[in-house]
Amino acid sequence: MTVTEEGLSDPSRVGSREQHLGALFEAVLTRGPLSRRDAARLTGLSAASVTKLVKPMLTHGYLVERDREAGVPGRPQIPLQVVPERHYAIGVKVMEGELVGVIADMHAEAQSSHRLRYEDTTPDGVVEAIEALTETLLDRLPGARERLLGIGIGLGGHVDGATGIVVQAPFLGWRDVPLQSMVADRLHVDVVLENDVNALAVAEQWFGPGFAFQSFAVVTLGVGVGCAFVIDGKLWRGVRGAAGELGHMVVAPDGPQCHCGKRGCLEAVVGDEALVAAMSTRSGQRYTTVGQVIAAAHAGDEHARAVFAEAGVGVGRAIAALLNLLNPPLVILSGEGLAASDLFMDALRSEVEQDSFSTVAKDCTLLVRPLPDETWARGAAATMLRWGVLRSLSRLSDQVVG
Ligand SMILES: [Zn+2]
Repeated sequence: MTVTEEGLSDPSRVGSREQHLGALFEAVLTRGPLSRRDAARLTGLSAASVTKLVKPMLTHGYLVERDREAGVPGRPQIPLQVVPERHYAIGVKVMEGELVGVIADMHAEAQSSHRLRYEDTTPDGVVEAIEALTETLLDRLPGARERLLGIGIGLGGHVDGATGIVVQAPFLGWRDVPLQSMVADRLHVDVVLENDVNALAVAEQWFGPGFAFQSFAVVTLGVGVGCAFVIDGKLWRGVRGAAGELGHMVVAPDGPQCHCGKRGCLEAVVGDEALVAAMSTRSGQRYTTVGQVIAAAHAGDEHARAVFAEAGVGVGRAIAALLNLLNPPLVILSGEGLAASDLFMDALRSEVEQDSFSTVAKDCTLLVRPLPDETWARGAAATMLRWGVLRSLSRLSDQVVG
């Protein structure tokens, strides 16, 4: 950690005109059809700025004007909307041994999806699998190849989106893998890389319940424990993309070894592997999959039920810490771990209430929301759309006069 007293600047600041273009496009994308007047209200831009910024987006086919709205007092308003087939983006969620991909239009509506299993978990092996998946998706949608904006890749772990490097992905055993440039060089397309939960948060912000909130958190349970924050309308990545690593919060300093290298991380205590290990220890029998532990719990096995109740307490404590830090109005709980939610939610809820400060638990809706892998992949596609459209728009920003 560096400690300094002066001379600080934030490297994430970008030109305000680009920012305004991006905000305007996003408003029309997620809330459209939208009049210029409403777009100004939603983005906080002046009516004159909106008129200026919209012009190049219309000229280049990103937006289109719909029929005039009748019956609105004052000057007639012409609603703007995004042209969905202007571009396509591919979104890929990289999991252990399997990829899930979608090809999505500008509304991030999946036109087609595909799953692909892979054996070779080296960076080259995964790049090869991404290439095969991409080819399959492009072959299915005529015309998409020519209008492909690029590929968004979501992957669990510490992902530095700004440099396109997977800093650390314990589930693949990777460190400092330049995955973005590897895929871009191989496929000759633009690529963006994002932590998979961050990508999911983008999908939830644009098209899910996060839409109605300026700030919210996503917590995912499964093989690992993931977390992402949207704060004041923006995804919060931290300095190098490692924000939201709730799973690597140390909860038991003398606890089990975590695959990240530390000891006693939340993930090492409540992740799938930990549940299987805890069950084997308690019961004195050998369990190998979390599915077996779930089945045992549903069959009334007390050891298995205790394992899930303890996990619920562990996750509840972590969510209480999150509420204490951010006081958010919404936490979306998702991930494949929800398959066992009936076994841990009671313990989780009461732990959240017990451990949280003042009114923060009361202020927050905890939304349990099982989402298929395709939604995660859609989030990766949405991340690509946001990046790609912003880049295209920043070129257009040179054409905005004034
Ligand atoms: Zn860890």
